[in-house]
Amino acid sequence: MKVVHTLEELRKLDLSSGGLVPTMGAFHEGHLSLMRTAKADTGLCAVSLFVNPTQFGKNEDLSRYPRPFERDVQLAESVGVDVLFAPSVEEMYADRPTMVSVPFLTDKWEGAYRPGHFDGVATVVLKLFNQFRTGRAYFGQKDLQQCLVIAKMVRDLNVPINLVFEPTVRESDGLAMSSRNVYLSPEERAAAVQLPRSLDALSQKLSASSSFPLNIQELITEEKDNLAKAGFDVDYLALVDLATLDAVSHAEGATALIAAAKIGKTRLIDNRILSSFPV
Ligand code: AMP
Repeated sequence: MKVVHTLEELRKLDLSSGGLVPTMGAFHEGHLSLMRTAKADTGLCAVSLFVNPTQFGKNEDLSRYPRPFERDVQLAESVGVDVLFAPSVEEMYADRPTMVSVPFLTDKWEGAYRPGHFDGVATVVLKLFNQFRTGRAYFGQKDLQQCLVIAKMVRDLNVPINLVFEPTVRESDGLAMSSRNVYLSPEERAAAVQLPRSLDALSQKLSASSSFPLNIQELITEEKDNLAKAGFDVDYLALVDLATLDAVSHAEGATALIAAAKIGKTRLIDNRILSSFPV
């Protein structure tokens, strides 16, 4: 595996046949499965490891974000990654950088709770696409709104890349894997399983609902109560249309359940896609 830190080194490589997996490091099985898929699909897996400051808000966890670089290098090597690009902030950003702003999908949900977050994501992802010039890029459905925002950016700006969105990888009890799970105390980790459980409960009730009418708001309120009882402070729990991300009252067409909630100081997100995806 080649580890490169500068754009100059990266530019010397022809990665056009390969698949890019953009990451912020602190690898877990969610990242590694994206890398394995990229390698299996294309034969050439390129990974970026960059904790992107422009997607963190002022009071977020940029300075304490986990950065186990040596371990990440070993893990990437172990799944057959060919190129790992780990640039510095200075290598990636000039002063007052040009930013990409995707309208419409970015002001809701994660965007409402994390103003500017998706501008940072869209900007770094477009830069990475331009830097690697791979034919494909792989993202996790765990960050569902991010998938939709990147797909819109690629469509709107005619970016010549094929996007692949892979299912969420979970711990054995159902908690979605996340680099932020290391922040959880043992008690918080045990309680955190309520997040996937609430999504499962809602999803099961919705799939059984064809035979009887349901009040989705009542069900959501019930699960918000269950999350609160487990110690969560819920930012949102909603049934949304996948094209617009607007809240809807029936699981008809392309829909998903989405959630974000804090337990202690740690903010977790998760979702259940109730239809085929991408739409
Ligand atoms: P991150 O390092 O958190 O920015 O994530 C890098 C990529 O891995 C993104 O496309 C994420 O959506 C994806 N990812 C993170 N967690 C998971 C997971 N549990 N399952 C699948 N993909 C994931």
